[in-house]
Amino acid sequence: MHRAALVLFSGGQDSTTCLAWALARYERVETIAFDYRQRHAVELQARHAVLAGIRQRFPQWAGKLGDDHELDLGVLGQVSETSLTRDMAFRMESSGLPNTFVPGRNLLFLTLAAALAYRRGLEVIVTGVCETDFSGYPDCRDDTMKAMQLALSLGMDKRFLIETPLMWIDKADTWALAQTLGGDALVELIIEHSHTCYLGDRTHRHDWGYGCGDCPACALRARGFAAWRNADKPAARTP
Ligand code: ZN
Repeated sequence: MHRAALVLFSGGQDSTTCLAWALARYERVETIAFDYRQRHAVELQARHAVLAGIRQRFPQWAGKLGDDHELDLGVLGQVSETSLTRDMAFRMESSGLPNTFVPGRNLLFLTLAAALAYRRGLEVIVTGVCETDFSGYPDCRDDTMKAMQLALSLGMDKRFLIETPLMWIDKADTWALAQTLGGDALVELIIEHSHTCYLGDRTHRHDWGYGCGDCPACALRARGFAAWRNADKPAARTP
């Protein structure tokens, strides 16, 4: 029986849903984020607001929510040239991947998360990666996660479990999952405080939250929200 988890928590919709998922399952949950000179420190600010909101509005979870860790990963900006680390417009590359792809990013994140989890006595690492409806980032695939789980468990001689509750669900189902886990209060917290927009826009408020409304991340979030609201869906599948 696993009791303690570390959630890769960026402050976005997906990682906020994963945090709630972990809080509903484990006795102790800690959070980790990486500052790699993102163009939008707004995402790191969003995570503080979400954590505060969970402590205030979810007494059943507040006692389980442990330390938050922010690691400086500025070195990633030195080795990669992408629209997330440099001042570049979003576009698709000839490789078929968007220029928001930071090669090796999730592999580094998971390795550092496991090193921290090892020290903190946390057996489970939870991440919001998803194969279903995003850009096909190769470091978000299920096979990559399974390979990392094996490599980290062998390399640290400790049995880690990498949990990916969003791997096979789409954005509409992610909204539904949040509703199932934390009801309207969690959906409202995600709308109000989680941040997804690539452009870091916190001035335009939509029914699904803040964002420019046009970038691929906003488009995906808006489309999923509309699909969830419009569909007479049954309760979310619980992965
Ligand atoms: Zn946007």
